[in-house]
Amino acid sequence: MELVKIELPPQVEKIIQRLNSGGYKAYVVGGCVRDSLLGRVPDDWDITTPAKPEQVKKLFNRTIDTGIQHGTVTVMAGSDRYEVTTYRVDGEYPDGRHPATVAFTSELLEDLKRRDFTINAMAYSQETGIVDAFEGIKDLEAGRIRCVGNPLERFGEDALRILRAVRFSAQLGFHIEETTYDAISRIAPRIALVSKERIQTELTKILQSDHPEKIQEVFVTGIHTFISPAFASLPWRNLEIASGLPSEKYVRWAAFLGKAGPKAAVEVLKDLKMDNDTIRKVQILATWTGRPMPPKEADIRRGMSAMLPEVWDALIQLNGYDHQIQKLTEQIRSRGDCLDLKHLAVSGQDLAEAKIPAGKEMGRLLNLLLDVVLECPSQNQKDILLEIAKNLAI
Ligand code: ATP
Ligand code: MG
Repeated sequence: MELVKIELPPQVEKIIQRLNSGGYKAYVVGGCVRDSLLGRVPDDWDITTPAKPEQVKKLFNRTIDTGIQHGTVTVMAGSDRYEVTTYRVDGEYPDGRHPATVAFTSELLEDLKRRDFTINAMAYSQETGIVDAFEGIKDLEAGRIRCVGNPLERFGEDALRILRAVRFSAQLGFHIEETTYDAISRIAPRIALVSKERIQTELTKILQSDHPEKIQEVFVTGIHTFISPAFASLPWRNLEIASGLPSEKYVRWAAFLGKAGPKAAVEVLKDLKMDNDTIRKVQILATWTGRPMPPKEADIRRGMSAMLPEVWDALIQLNGYDHQIQKLTEQIRSRGDCLDLKHLAVSGQDLAEAKIPAGKEMGRLLNLLLDVVLECPSQNQKDILLEIAKNLAI
């Protein structure tokens, strides 16, 4: 036990007090303890208690059965939600993914022992202070990711943990302790057993972290071979520059996959069950990755017209376009130059009414007109465009 004080959100204190008054111990645990000790703001506060889910539910008015079979009840406080989980011991992991059984225990220490890394295996309450049974504080101070117990066994139980090790090292700027690190390569083939969604979540967190360059560890340790065939054939990329980029998911993935080209990028993301919006944006950025951009308005308008404004802004950063491109972009925007069919001064209907026989070629014709306007915005006038259309139409 350490005499460190952590400031708990009032609602969390209330939940702990309510559990205490019901005769149960209760602690905050895991990521929130780690982040508080590091002076980082925790994403969420998880509470652990020996009370069983049914007992927890009796103590609170508003609860949600989040994962009763795993001992988790969500307690609502205002519009905030807190997960209260019963101390538990995970059984065998026959498939390297899910424990076959989950048993509750009355011992906090048993619960801490099942957690992945020492820095994630600490609990805290105002009454008891920090419970640090595995030298988590020492590892926090040393900036070290280390498994609780034998790394080969712990990674063998759930291979996702090898990616979590890389993820935490990227988020916290920590190094991975040697025996833990060595075990990663040995367990790497078992990442093939882990669901693609869980893999994607961890890879995304690595790329969105302050140290996206740590994605290299996925290659150095050989994990990449077992994620998917498309991922395995990716070239290694130096992501040193990516840390200065906006941290949106699609931007970071594009920084990682762009050079591989749109086809490979889409394949990798589809394999990882990425959402379609992200896939589309990365596909566009990958198409444009590495393209030089002359400081000419027409070229810039063509680029801008091919993608959403925020995607264009990301491309400027990804490709390292210079200040001039940025300035011209702003001018194009403040003038309101037409960049898409919606803002073209003629519509398909206008062409039809002017009896321009475009037929099935209507879409193509409109796009030709858009191209004229992208080249020269002053042409975006109905009479001018109709005249051009007459000449273009066959
Ligand atoms: P963050 O929420 O910032 O991603 P976290 O540490 O809270 O980080 P979670 O995935 O929310 O991570 O999990 C909460 C806690 O549950 C962890 O701190 C760890 O103690 C434990 N845990 C989560 N996933 C695993 C796992 N695969 N194996 C062992 N313990 C785990
Ligand atoms: Mg968490």
